[in-house]
Amino acid sequence: MLSEYVKKTPKSLSLYGIASRMMPYGVSSNYRYLPPYPLYLVKGKGSKVWDVDGNVYIDFNMAYGALGIGHSHPKLVKALKERFENSSILGFEFADTIKLAKIIKIRYNVDMVRFSSTGTEATMHAIRIARAYTKRKKIIKFEGHYHGSHDQLLVNVSPDKEGEKSVCSHGIPEDIVKYTLVAEWNNYDSVERIVRKDGNDIAAIIMEPVAMNMGIIEPDVSFLKGIFNLAKEYGILIIFDEVKTGGKYYSGASGYYGLKPDLITLGKAIAGGLPLSVIAGRKEIMSVIGPEKTAHGGTFNANPLSVVASIVTLTQILTQDSFYEVYKLNSLLSKGYKDLVEDLDIDITAVTWGASGTIFFSNYLPRNYREFLRIDKRIWYKYFWLMLSKGIIPMADYDEEWTISTQHNKEDIIKHLEVAEEVLRKIKS
Ligand code: PLP
Repeated sequence: MLSEYVKKTPKSLSLYGIASRMMPYGVSSNYRYLPPYPLYLVKGKGSKVWDVDGNVYIDFNMAYGALGIGHSHPKLVKALKERFENSSILGFEFADTIKLAKIIKIRYNVDMVRFSSTGTEATMHAIRIARAYTKRKKIIKFEGHYHGSHDQLLVNVSPDKEGEKSVCSHGIPEDIVKYTLVAEWNNYDSVERIVRKDGNDIAAIIMEPVAMNMGIIEPDVSFLKGIFNLAKEYGILIIFDEVKTGGKYYSGASGYYGLKPDLITLGKAIAGGLPLSVIAGRKEIMSVIGPEKTAHGGTFNANPLSVVASIVTLTQILTQDSFYEVYKLNSLLSKGYKDLVEDLDIDITAVTWGASGTIFFSNYLPRNYREFLRIDKRIWYKYFWLMLSKGIIPMADYDEEWTISTQHNKEDIIKHLEVAEEVLRKIKS
């Protein structure tokens, strides 16, 4: 299945040879290394990207969901050129940041906002703020949920053994994660068990409100509400890590489910592809941040380019109306997959949430990480390499999802489905 792709990408292979001598695995993020070698791209425009060999792909990965507005959106290009002429970084407060804080406050229903650059930083700070506010040490996370690349939350992100606490990286001492407790997604009892035992020592429960690092696994609403009630009983804070969901639905998962967590984090799509993240929440909690109180700093925090990009993205591009069009295209794509399942009699379950969707090569919809783990990955990789060799990037990996951007159109969806049909027929044969 790989051979067609390898034939089309000799320059990527040769760049990989050079890159891997200077950069471990030839990449700048482990997640971009896909064996046998990564794809090296040179440009993106609208819904498409080009690789070093001149191949063009319709891009449904959209930078792991960071490009809800598609590549090089003309409105963003114009605004960034203007901004750059007046400096990219000022080293003091940038006045337009206040404008952006107000936009986020209203859109995501939060009281106070602080800016960082990446999702990793945002969740790291959210945990610190929760600990400072509650004066407690322990935190609960869910199996299969990813919150970035910092030590305390790199626990049970993608373990392959059942029932054990596992650290997902070398170099993280067990001691550092001793305060991280792990519960099962969509299993209220697993949360209650931990809380009834350790509740008075637990600062926060952090979750991806819709799990989007094991495909897409929505929460049962009763499960979410149960956790909110339990947390309230014990004075535990709820953190919604909306780094993905915040840019996939107009007002994020909190808006979608009508819930108000104590803290939220945002990142990825909110700045149109520039690095910007947000930690936001209730005033009394956010007020623990400050000099000689709780640390939050960063040379690039609220970088003017990112702030301008975010203002344009949130007010002019990712609007309610444009989301409406995106949801329609998203339904078209998932319906197309559902029709293919019937026609080809193949085990695929398609699912969508907001601007995203995915397919599981299974005849059931997984409800937690264990069920997700049971799905055979090998067939996904066959599908992926074949899709790529025919000019479609369906998503970045088997645990990721596609993103429909405001620059995708109906023709992109039709092409995706035509290629998927050809690929799935080949896999079945
Ligand atoms: N939180 C979630 C839910 C994510 O999916 C990710 C990245 O994929 C992060 C946090 C980390 O964000 P970043 O890669 O910008 O550090």
